[in-house]
Amino acid sequence: MSLPTTAAELRDELLGRECQCGKTKGAGKSFCYSCFMRLPRKIKHDLYKLIGDGYEEAYKQARAYFTEQDAPPRFVRRLP
Ligand SMILES: [Zn+2]
Repeated sequence: MSLPTTAAELRDELLGRECQCGKTKGAGKSFCYSCFMRLPRKIKHDLYKLIGDGYEEAYKQARAYFTEQDAPPRFVRRLP
């Protein structure tokens, strides 16, 4: 799924039933319960903002957070 950025895309994403992780989420919720619980408290809080009043930024931060968390480790210590 591509990253929704416009207000219309964000609204569709919010009302959709598929979470960014592929699981089912509740319509009107940004993410499924398990994804939501992984987020830092600040971002969770910001996701209660309305579209056009800070939600866009919160959503972008949440997606960036998941991308970072799901990325393979950048520094892999190798044994000699
Ligand atoms: Zn999810």
